[in-house]
Amino acid sequence: MNYEQIGFKCGIEIHNRLATKHKLFCNCPARLTDKKPTKVIQRKLRPVAGEMGRVDIAAAHEYLKDKTFSYQVFPDTSCLVECDEEPPHEINQEALEIVLQICKMLKADILDEVHIMRKTVIDGSNTSGFQRTALVGINGSLSTSLGPVTISNICLEEESCGIVEKNDTNVTYRLDRLGIPLVEIGTGPDIKNPEHAKEVAEKLGMIVRSTGKSQRGIGVTRQDINVSVKGGKRVEIKGFQELDMIPKVIDFEIARQVELAKKGESKEETRLAKADGSTDYMRPLPGGERMYPETDIPPIIITKDILSKIKLPETWEVKLAKLEKILPKDLANQILKSEYLEIFEKYYKTNPVLVATTFTSTLKDLSRRGFEISNLTEEHFAELFEKNLPKEALISALEKLCENPDAKIESDAISDDSLRNIVKDVILRNPELAKERKVGALMGDVMKQVSGKADGKKVMRILQEELNKK
Ligand SMILES: [Zn+2]
Repeated sequence: MNYEQIGFKCGIEIHNRLATKHKLFCNCPARLTDKKPTKVIQRKLRPVAGEMGRVDIAAAHEYLKDKTFSYQVFPDTSCLVECDEEPPHEINQEALEIVLQICKMLKADILDEVHIMRKTVIDGSNTSGFQRTALVGINGSLSTSLGPVTISNICLEEESCGIVEKNDTNVTYRLDRLGIPLVEIGTGPDIKNPEHAKEVAEKLGMIVRSTGKSQRGIGVTRQDINVSVKGGKRVEIKGFQELDMIPKVIDFEIARQVELAKKGESKEETRLAKADGSTDYMRPLPGGERMYPETDIPPIIITKDILSKIKLPETWEVKLAKLEKILPKDLANQILKSEYLEIFEKYYKTNPVLVATTFTSTLKDLSRRGFEISNLTEEHFAELFEKNLPKEALISALEKLCENPDAKIESDAISDDSLRNIVKDVILRNPELAKERKVGALMGDVMKQVSGKADGKKVMRILQEELNKK
């Protein structure tokens, strides 16, 4: 496909949850909870006119559905601010500083005054009927393999509620997610083709992660893609589960748009990506009518003093060079893009390759086999890597912890002395094999006896040593 010829225009917006101590406008911890809700509150939401006196088309569309919204209240992660029964507190300074750091990394112009705005959202995902958002940086630039991509806006926002269930008349949300700080980074329409869109999304994710303050797990990073073709209208696509899906979904969408443009039926709208790469209609594209100022919080002046305290983290080029010194090239690249990079950097020392492959492939494999890997915490990894378990023992320990996060992991690796005794015994019992130096067969026998409790390389070394004594 010649993307230039069809007038391909594409920009991307990523949202990434930040790992701060507390939420953006209250003191609740900025994390999801595993507690049961203690209360449920209900709301009806209606649209209000924006600054220009008009009601946003997307908001009006939601209002006509006349839904009732229920919100689960949690004892540890929601307060009156999330319920919209108390005004927001002062903005979270830690979150603001992370976003300033991201602005610096993307060489953006930082605004002198940060104004909190209310963005009308009445699909129920905010109890107040709006999302608080603040523009912090503009006119940045991201370098990519196809040249620089303009960064048009960098915002600090509050995360919406998590959805629990919905039917035609009622939607239930949970309040623990509401108010977690989010960074939003939007590019200009400079993306050249669908693969390039994936690269840009990947690099923006890496920029956020290099602050060391990105949350981890499913759903913490979301991408919205804006795309249009010559003769068509702008369409926004949401709901990408994985970066790998991006090129496929865009290709599907431009094929659809080229057809619509021919018939002159192209419409501005928001669409939802499906697993097969196609998209479904979601709602009209929101317009500029939905913003108005948050009057409960005064503007924040970004002084030279604040800016001088913001230090740049290590760039990912430098990071990659360091990783390539301890890992094979491919693995270094994979771990650099991994959401576990930070944990890897803390605990790789005992066995860099084993620690890296645990994060790049073992966890994926466990998840595919139905294990609940979200039960694994940093403390678990710290403990396991500290014990320096052989690979097989490490995997079975991870399986155990997925099933029961409180499980005790015994360091059941066999001591060098007992390993040597097993090897000696095997040689003694198989004099013919030993004489002919059938190392493979002897090795197999030893491994069967130690069943995953000893490292293969170590067994091989001891076996060779013992054979050499003969
Ligand atoms: Zn709160």
